[in-house]
Amino acid sequence: MTRFYEDFTMTIDGEPATSDKTFDAINPANEKPIAQVPDASREQLESAVAAAKGAFPAWSATPLSERQKLVAKLGDVIEANTEDFIRLLTMEQGKARAGAEWEIGGSAAWCREIAKQELKTETVEDDGHRTVEVQRTPLGVVGGITPWNFPLLLAIWKIAPALVAGNTMVLKPSPYTPLCTLKFGELTRDILPKGVLNIVSGGNELGAWITQHPEIRKISFTGSTATGRKIMESASGSLKRITLELGGNDPAIVLPDVDVKAMAKELFWAAFQNSAQFCVAAKRIYIHEDIYDEMAEALVDYAKTVKVGDGLEQGTDLGPIQNSMQFDKLKNLLADSKENNHKFLLGGDIGAGPGYFVPVTIIDNPPEESRVVVEEAFGPVLPLLKFKNIDEVINRANNTEYGLAASVWGRDVSAARKVADRLEAGTIWINEIHTFSPHVVFGGHKQSGIGVENSLEGLAEYTNVRTVVTNRAAPTSV
Ligand code: NAD
Repeated sequence: MTRFYEDFTMTIDGEPATSDKTFDAINPANEKPIAQVPDASREQLESAVAAAKGAFPAWSATPLSERQKLVAKLGDVIEANTEDFIRLLTMEQGKARAGAEWEIGGSAAWCREIAKQELKTETVEDDGHRTVEVQRTPLGVVGGITPWNFPLLLAIWKIAPALVAGNTMVLKPSPYTPLCTLKFGELTRDILPKGVLNIVSGGNELGAWITQHPEIRKISFTGSTATGRKIMESASGSLKRITLELGGNDPAIVLPDVDVKAMAKELFWAAFQNSAQFCVAAKRIYIHEDIYDEMAEALVDYAKTVKVGDGLEQGTDLGPIQNSMQFDKLKNLLADSKENNHKFLLGGDIGAGPGYFVPVTIIDNPPEESRVVVEEAFGPVLPLLKFKNIDEVINRANNTEYGLAASVWGRDVSAARKVADRLEAGTIWINEIHTFSPHVVFGGHKQSGIGVENSLEGLAEYTNVRTVVTNRAAPTSV
């Protein structure tokens, strides 16, 4: 079968690596193979870890300013290849042009901004005779494991701080979206010293080998809560540090004083950006009963103007679901809503294909305990929920094992703020959503994760603390 692209190679010790075993990357808009992808063997993972370990002494001893310069250059090389990355990202992930531009632009920006960060040694005591300093030292080899919704950006969120902090890395992209990450690895070979960044591709088993590997000191993982639990268990064998960015079921709370018409567009994108394959998508929208009917109607009207299709076609706003596994999950969720006689305000019926297309689906006030409310859909199936009073909606919003993010919408900002202050989530947006920064901390509460990314706190997660106590009066016998 002919494939759109020829070879993609892994990057091990600064060199291209192929594998005897391969798998296909599939374009989710037409289910056709795009390229063959190496399926790393255990020996290749061993080589990658050995390369990263070998590169660590020199890289960690490289002056911070030099490491920062090279990480910023990674941003330059992404920018120089923007058009190629956008096309490749759309083909492998499915997202439409605007979303791909956001992700590739963000990946370049993150490299450059994280490259400005520094964790300074802190002097916590100094009385003239004795000083106590706290240093931040790198951990060693870091293992990165990433998902398929924002494949390049989420890899960069790990690579940039890990390298700036002086670690070396072995990173594995999702088997569903390996191409942009492999291409990025290829481009880094002329920039980074050999072994500093190794990119290996393969399935879940390769991920498990990484999490078990005794030479890997930390796992930085983004993906589902179910996999996060397995990783935590596996990492315990060698007491690895872990950062887990996991799933969410984010509530949006719409107060009665909003401008309904203006809100419809905001809420639509809050929920459906990236075809709702977004950890921080608004996944349950609670609307005050006074405006519920009007808001639901405005949302449906706006949704009808949005074009779902192949991301490569001009005019497409939302692409397909990224893979068949997630597509099947969504079919199952829709079947459950139908069996339970939920009222569909829009969508619900999946066409014949080809392509993993799920139409924008909006469900009218299903019971709070229904699967479409309780589970993370991770696709364009959105329940609208009616509420009467603030205490009740806060209880409902917090009644979940997740705690990634939430949003509150209202013209009376102090009233919105009072609601926000009672929500259990790592990020709460008021009257905006999905604004991220390399300098703003991000992480989940409850089972949405452990640890954080971005900001100096995120950078610190790639370091050990080393306290140095210096007494200037060395012991003498006289
Ligand atoms: P996933 O957990 O299925 O897979 C993520 C990665 O883990 C892949 O690379 C996969 O190969 C690997 N993996 C799977 N099993 C493994 C194992 N036993 N050991 C080691 N690695 C293993 O997640 P996904 O379906 O790719 O991503 C969707 C999920 O990611 C959603 O739940 C979403 O909310 C979450 N997510 C969270 C954030 C965040 O920042 N909190 C961001 C994006 C996505």
